[in-house]
Amino acid sequence: MKKHYDYLIVGSGISGSTMARLLSDAGKTVLVVEKRDEVGGNVHTDLIDGIPVHTYGPHIFHTHSKEAWDFFCKYADVAPYVNRVFANYKGKLISMPFNMHTFEALFGVKTPEEAKEVIGKEIEKEGIKEPKNLEEQALSLVGRTIYETLIKGYTEKQWGRDATELPASIIKRLPIRYEYNDNYFNDAYQGEPKGGYTPFIENLLKGVDVITGVDYLANKEEYDEKADEVIYTGRLDEYFGFELGHLEWRSLRFDVKKEEVDSFQCTAVVNYTEREVPYTRVSEHKKFDPSCTNHHSTILSYEYPDSFEEGKIPYYVVNDAKNSTLANKYKEKVAALNNVYFLGRLANYQYYDMDDAILSAFELYKELTK
Ligand code: FAD
Ligand code: UDP
Repeated sequence: MKKHYDYLIVGSGISGSTMARLLSDAGKTVLVVEKRDEVGGNVHTDLIDGIPVHTYGPHIFHTHSKEAWDFFCKYADVAPYVNRVFANYKGKLISMPFNMHTFEALFGVKTPEEAKEVIGKEIEKEGIKEPKNLEEQALSLVGRTIYETLIKGYTEKQWGRDATELPASIIKRLPIRYEYNDNYFNDAYQGEPKGGYTPFIENLLKGVDVITGVDYLANKEEYDEKADEVIYTGRLDEYFGFELGHLEWRSLRFDVKKEEVDSFQCTAVVNYTEREVPYTRVSEHKKFDPSCTNHHSTILSYEYPDSFEEGKIPYYVVNDAKNSTLANKYKEKVAALNNVYFLGRLANYQYYDMDDAILSAFELYKELTK
């Protein structure tokens, strides 16, 4: 292995691996250090019985950006895929996100006019002018029936708080369609990598030196000496030894089960929207990969929301005023650093979809090479 590198990249998630590819293609020498014993960060997939299992939760690549899509297709063998999600509410399967299939199942309506009339009346009854929290936002967007059947239970399980204590912004992301269109995403491009995400990440890291099982922060000085510049994709507060306080996260726990059947559920992802069911969704992994040839068994992940504490995986940022203020204070410290760049969801304390991660690596690359 080379003694000195142009860049040290901390973390082999999609952010760090994209950056490693771009810099390596530009002729820079790059060393990637990764804390886990595997590459890919949260998009990592494991092959179990020939099925790519999404170890850290179901991932679907979707984007409006042709640039991000072209990059993904260059390094992954992408199969067409449309994410179709059903909610299981007290045993009844209801199409998500909110579309004419949903309205037909809940209200028996068949035309957009009928649906708008029923939902419009429910919204009017609530009389909410300026929604102050997630519950009020949802009631003013879709009315009480949809809120209580499909949103309240799922959301309160997911975030571990009452919907009245959550910001309205979380729910603004759910599309509402008065047509029979059950594609979960609105983006122009959507697909899944054949064989899972790990081969994609391995392609990004081809020709790059990678050391796994290494915590950069435990030996920071030693690793800093190995390169001229550092790109850090680990946690923002951890880099500074939590000196200003801890940023909060929401965690998840996955219970992985094998069933000796070809097909277990109607689609890849089924959400369980009742508060009483402890998991939020069940993912059937083979259904993310249309090229999967296992027809005798299937692997499922039951997804349980969990509180976060040190030692658990930080999955979702907690988007409230307290955490945003603290994150901004840490970001002021980042701006004062020399030759260290913070990239990705952990280092920016921000929710990123995979395309956002790729695009922010493009942006940093441009800044570094201008
Ligand atoms: P990470 O994947 O977290 O990578 C950071 C890496 O840095 C990790 O491997 C970590 O081990 C390593 N690291 C941290 N600290 C250190 C250290 N001190 N030393 C060495 N290494 C370190 N996006 C989509 O586009 N579509 C989806 O369907 C989708 N589904 C999702 C489902 C769930 C449940 C969640 C939580 C997220 C989902 N996402 C989805 C978002 C997606 O997971 C992120 O966009 C992506 O993981 C961001 O990659 P990253 O490289 O920024 O961070
Ligand atoms: N949500 C819901 N019911 C569902 C799915 C989602 O109420 O069946 C809400 C929930 O509050 C969630 C938010 O919509 O946090 C965003 O959903 P999305 O599927 O985008 O969540 P993610 O992929 O981040 O888990």
